[in-house]
Amino acid sequence: MKILLTSFYDLGKQPKIIAEIADKYNNTEVHFDFVDFSVDNQNIDLDTYDVLGIYAPMHTATILSIEYIKDKKLPDKVFTFGLYGSVLEDFNPLIKYIKDIESEELTSFLKLNENQKFSLKDNIPNRQIFPDISNYAHLVDGSNNLVAGSVETTYGCKHSCTHCPVPISFNGSFKTYSLEKIVNDVQNQVNQGAKHISFNDPDFFNGPIHALKILEALNHKFPEITYDSTIKVEHIIKFKKYFKELASLNMAFVISAFETTNDKVLTILEKNHTSNDLNNSIETSKEFGIDIRPTWMPFSPWTELEDLSNIVELIEGYQLRETVDPIQLTIKLLIPKHSLIIKRPEIKKYLGDYEKESLSFQWQYENIHAEKLQFTLFDFILNNSELDEHKQYLGMVSIIEEFTRTKLITNTNYDFKKVPKLSETWFCCAEPSKIQLDRIKTNKALI
Ligand code: SF4
Repeated sequence: MKILLTSFYDLGKQPKIIAEIADKYNNTEVHFDFVDFSVDNQNIDLDTYDVLGIYAPMHTATILSIEYIKDKKLPDKVFTFGLYGSVLEDFNPLIKYIKDIESEELTSFLKLNENQKFSLKDNIPNRQIFPDISNYAHLVDGSNNLVAGSVETTYGCKHSCTHCPVPISFNGSFKTYSLEKIVNDVQNQVNQGAKHISFNDPDFFNGPIHALKILEALNHKFPEITYDSTIKVEHIIKFKKYFKELASLNMAFVISAFETTNDKVLTILEKNHTSNDLNNSIETSKEFGIDIRPTWMPFSPWTELEDLSNIVELIEGYQLRETVDPIQLTIKLLIPKHSLIIKRPEIKKYLGDYEKESLSFQWQYENIHAEKLQFTLFDFILNNSELDEHKQYLGMVSIIEEFTRTKLITNTNYDFKKVPKLSETWFCCAEPSKIQLDRIKTNKALI
């Protein structure tokens, strides 16, 4: 049996789950090929395969996969997996969604025998099947451009934020990977040249003791390697005591989903944090010398113009210009099928039809000026992509000042520093923008 496994985009990482699937079966009865269309534009003859597997980890990857398969004759068996697999199955019911690759479901669909030694928790993924690690996201800080690898200490999430695709599949639960698996996986990536490792757990502090134990072991074995992770605001505050340890173990920066300063919206999103908590988490990061990189979703049906000026005031007050990617100030709520937000009573008034092409529900703004501001900000960034990020930010703030009739920039001598960040800074809950889609399609997503 010949199976082609495909990935279209996985936020600049090697799609590790593909290696897990290949490792799960005995290679005497099946031959796997793999193509990652985000770094490799191969022409594939699908006719030569018995089965096609499509990795759908996020909205954009799913859109790209639909575009790829739409005019092609597909093998008799097609399956999909990842957080957006159910959305892809809805789009084309001939595609079978495998919710959990650990379960028997995939095995019975493929009619194969499993490698009895395989366990997702312990299996060390064979990354040799992927394009070289240097093709994926790098760590950049202006002067350096370092190869970055990625691992996860856990998968799933114990929270249920209503705008997030993770709880749709994991229903407020998460599982852990073993220490041995992660240390060996990092070793393999270090051997390939990685100088930095991203923890891709949806939240690094879902299981803080487990995460710290792994980070300690990694730091002991690879003292030169730096790390980044994603930690929600609630956990930054709750587990502040661990930040000293994070700093001593080379955690270079922490990404945190701030979303908005609007407390009403934060309640609807069930983020379990308030606008005041944003200040606390920034102060924690500053106290321990770990950069915080807030991500934002300022635009939703309830957005008020002052939300944007409040966000800019927070950025200015704490001097965070370097750690906010300008595109973040344009991000809109994305409502895919099965989104938990559909169950919130507040959305009913604003929710429109499901649009099959965009794989999402349309929604309306309460305040038409907020819609206009989003459009204007986005138009600015679309037409000024050649500007450096500081100039983009200042241009966007000037638009916000105009819309809100406020003066937001008071520091005209801001010392814009070069801080470490990943070359790919796109987040899965966001509606993809035209800029991002074009970058992916032209293989310019990655530096
Ligand atoms: S937004 Fe983060 S914390 Fe909330 S459910 Fe998603 S992954 Fe978990």
